[in-house]
Amino acid sequence: MPYIGRFAPSPTGPLHAGSLVAALASWLDARAHGGQWLVRIEDVDTPRCIPGADHLILQQLATCGLVPDAPVMWQSQRGDAYQAALDGLIAKGWAYPCGCSRKEIEDAQALMGHTRERHQAAVYPGTCRDGLNGKTARAWRLNVQRVIDDLQLATPLTWQDRLLGTQQQDVAQEVGDFVLRRADGLWAYQLAVVVDDAAQGITHIVRGADLTDNTARQIVLQRALGLPTPSYMHTPLVLGENGEKLSKQNGAQALDVTQPLRTLQPAAQALGLPKLAVGASIHQALATWTKAWPPIPHLVPR
Ligand code: GLU
Repeated sequence: MPYIGRFAPSPTGPLHAGSLVAALASWLDARAHGGQWLVRIEDVDTPRCIPGADHLILQQLATCGLVPDAPVMWQSQRGDAYQAALDGLIAKGWAYPCGCSRKEIEDAQALMGHTRERHQAAVYPGTCRDGLNGKTARAWRLNVQRVIDDLQLATPLTWQDRLLGTQQQDVAQEVGDFVLRRADGLWAYQLAVVVDDAAQGITHIVRGADLTDNTARQIVLQRALGLPTPSYMHTPLVLGENGEKLSKQNGAQALDVTQPLRTLQPAAQALGLPKLAVGASIHQALATWTKAWPPIPHLVPR
């Protein structure tokens, strides 16, 4: 079976210990399958991007021996493809404009007695689903229930993760009509990632477990756009000293790659891969880890 994998960092800062785990895991999985490994710079959320971070990430990866097999794709250059995808969804009646402000959404939720928040993005109450009611269009949303009904998708949506096993989510109830194009005009991660995974012919996605929760949404969108669903595997997160996931937002240290093997070693260990003798080269290390791939499943939290 052909294999095309990818690492898709957002250039909101240089690589850190957590993102290196995802990069290494996706690279090793591609190599272990004799496949190709691509890199896509996910720079759609421009206010969060840091100038130069994209090139720094590519340099850090290369220093660690992780070099993409095809030219890098930048999402900031893919606006036409996202617009075409959105137009297709609108034509099918599956996307609608939304004029709600954050405050209006919160008020409508409170009225409905919804207080639960999910990853800070609360379930949209569906206010503009049947029309803007005189409001100005701000964002574009997917009419999840309509897609599910029209395509007769199962509820809850069930999918397989290669490490975590069977996963399921009722997207309409638990997530609601998610945003495709944001009120500030920027493309939403969900739309961009689905369009680009298909455009790059990605067959296998290996990424951090913090993204597990997005997968069902992405599968609904793949169905709506008539795109194939890749195989998914979500790798364990590296936790910081405070027990929280490492991220650029909570001050994860940028990686020092002056001694690449030293940098890679903790990432490999987080994946349950063997420790290497001092003096091994990057090339030897990557070859050893490729042979040892996939890692021991019991290391992965269920
Ligand atoms: N760009 C996303 C991030 O850095 C990852 C996207 C993905 O792997 O699907 O969080």
